[in-house]
Amino acid sequence: MTVPLSELARAKGIRYFLISFTDLFGTQRAKLVPTQAIDAMAASGAGFAGFAAWMDMSPADPDMFAHPDPGSVFQLPWQPEVAWMPADLLTPEGTAIAQTPRLVLKRVLKLALELGYRVRTGVECEYFLLAADAVQIADSRDVQSKPCYDQQALMRRYTVISEICDAMNALGWGAYQNDHEDANGQFEMNWTYADALVTADRHAFFKYMVKTVAEKHGLRATFMPKPFMHLTGNGCHTHLSVWDSEGKVNRFDDPRGELGLSPLAYHFIGGVQHSAKALCAFANPTVNSYKRINAPITTSGATWSPNTISYSGNNRTHAIRIPEPGRFELRLADGAANPYLLPAALTAAGLDGIAHQRDAGPRRDNNSYTNPLPPQSAKPLPANLLDALRALESDTVLSEAMGADFVASYLKLKHREWQDYCARVTPWELEHTLDC
Ligand code: ADP
Ligand code: MG
Ligand code: MG
Ligand code: MG
Ligand code: MG
Repeated sequence: MTVPLSELARAKGIRYFLISFTDLFGTQRAKLVPTQAIDAMAASGAGFAGFAAWMDMSPADPDMFAHPDPGSVFQLPWQPEVAWMPADLLTPEGTAIAQTPRLVLKRVLKLALELGYRVRTGVECEYFLLAADAVQIADSRDVQSKPCYDQQALMRRYTVISEICDAMNALGWGAYQNDHEDANGQFEMNWTYADALVTADRHAFFKYMVKTVAEKHGLRATFMPKPFMHLTGNGCHTHLSVWDSEGKVNRFDDPRGELGLSPLAYHFIGGVQHSAKALCAFANPTVNSYKRINAPITTSGATWSPNTISYSGNNRTHAIRIPEPGRFELRLADGAANPYLLPAALTAAGLDGIAHQRDAGPRRDNNSYTNPLPPQSAKPLPANLLDALRALESDTVLSEAMGADFVASYLKLKHREWQDYCARVTPWELEHTLDC
């Protein structure tokens, strides 16, 4: 029995609840509900007009109702009188709305659990701290050509970084390190992996928290995949392991396996590689995403993002890295990835790999930046968003697990986004074509 939210509010000094959902484009939408109304609202759900968000609904559709998850309450460490709660979207009749990202993840995790697999993930959400006008990085002294781990630049942001890190630990996430990343103005903060839905809620909250704390300090945070052409982009590396249903035994661990990974793990990786192009529609969901992958070298000397569908050991130039026994890292994903759809698609691809015992092929030990694999030994990544959307269109693996209705809605909205982009006349075109 969970206690009524009004009781929780009294015990914790909460005055308002932020009932929040993440739409298909990863935007978070919310209603701020006073404690006096919260019990009734938790029972009925908070009403939203679906057309007003990226949900593939029309203005004539009935409202959708956001039902907050009572097991997932985040009291804002920087504003403790407010609690954030991720919600699931239902129709007025109480049926699930298929294109709700959080429900898509739940659906795939349920499929996994029915097979006896409990999926655990950890994410690394890189971000830039920009000046409030968002045109350039905030710290004009952050100019090293190899800025990764820059102690001086990291500590100039101590007040922001420590506030976020303290908040993560107040929420019990097990935060363990913070660093300056490979681009000027770029940071990463790491916390401990957990069950995939827990990590997804934390991922969504992390983005909200980083943006909010940055604003408090007069800055603007961005998770945009590639804000600056010459600098390393924002990755969202996702680490994944599969456990038994109790969560006691890591089924990816095998001391006899290559790099300490079990046959199950290699089949999972085989599945991820098999569906990789379609997976990009979720791991790399924006026009800008494709400027981070397959990218020319950055001023730091490496993009740290992949160019081919391949896996390696502790080698950061491939789409999949095996850093240690018992897990792998998907390095493909970027900061625009939807916190719910990314692990859903990744798990769907992996489950298919297990079901069909897909062969992961050989490990690749080359430096993909200086010695890229030829197309006959490793498939290239999609060149742009349209390429990925078309791959998703012709894929059946992801749509079966994530839901055909959901995928149809996603493709419809993303194709519109691509068309909107294509309709723009850009400075590059003027530069290259004005004198044709
Ligand atoms: P790196 O920069 O070397 O890729 P980080 O330390 O920045 O690694 O991030 C590693 C992430 O992987 C963390 O979120 C960590 O908790 C997570 N992780 C570690 N072990 C596992 C595991 N068995 N399953 C899933 N995630 C894991
Ligand atoms: Mg109104
Ligand atoms: Mg890291
Ligand atoms: Mg990093
Ligand atoms: Mg990483």
